[in-house]
Amino acid sequence: MVDAKSIIENALKEGRNFLLEPEAKTLCRIYGLPVTKFKVAKNLSEVKQYAEEIGYPIVLKIVSPDILHKSDVGGVVINIRNEEELVQAYNRIMNNVKEKASNARIYGILVQEFAPPGREVIVGVAKDPQFKHVIMFGLGGIFVEILKDVTFRVLPITRDDAEAMIKEIRGYHVLVGYRGQPPADVQSIVDIMLRVSKLINDFPSISQLDLNPIIVYEKGAKIIDARIILESE
Ligand code: ADP
Ligand code: MG
Repeated sequence: MVDAKSIIENALKEGRNFLLEPEAKTLCRIYGLPVTKFKVAKNLSEVKQYAEEIGYPIVLKIVSPDILHKSDVGGVVINIRNEEELVQAYNRIMNNVKEKASNARIYGILVQEFAPPGREVIVGVAKDPQFKHVIMFGLGGIFVEILKDVTFRVLPITRDDAEAMIKEIRGYHVLVGYRGQPPADVQSIVDIMLRVSKLINDFPSISQLDLNPIIVYEKGAKIIDARIILESE
């Protein structure tokens, strides 16, 4: 098992100030955060093998230190239901990347569990002008991009802080359920925020963290994408 410290050291040694999605998710997993199941494949035959192990439906994503926004270059295919679709998706991603990011180094293909739709939230961390880590919480999609319905606290936070943050966004009713919708598992978001607080406390050299989106279900939650930026010394 890799340890948290060596994931960060390895990235810095490679001259990167950011973690690749599988590295960021491994770090998250060490801290008990509910990331999607995943494996990094080196070729199509490994992609097939890992898809069987994880179980369909599957998601494929490109893993490259030169591609930060994977879907911008056609590097993500979701909801792949069988091996025939898997081969098509693999070829499509490879062609897209060759076309749109021809010089990108490819480290592998991320094979991961497909998370069914649900209510989307985001948890982020950034450093404020006084160099304090600030945690952000909001609902995903238009709620954060257009309505700016987000809330902040300086880290570390307590359970009471996390619960208060979730309650103070305007879209809180979306989480607790309306029009007959059952409530989302708010405690699973609280748990994520507390684990993020611990992670940042242990690794203050993380300058930015984005868990975006997190899908919250009636029971539990899944982190779909994780991005971590490190302070370059
Ligand atoms: P990007 O680098 O472009 O941000 P993401 O990993 O966020 O790539 O994937 C793009 C989008 O695809 C996500 O915002 C989400 O809507 C969808 N997606 C990605 N991974 C999964 C997954 N495991 N299950 C379900 N949907 C996913
Ligand atoms: Mg993303």
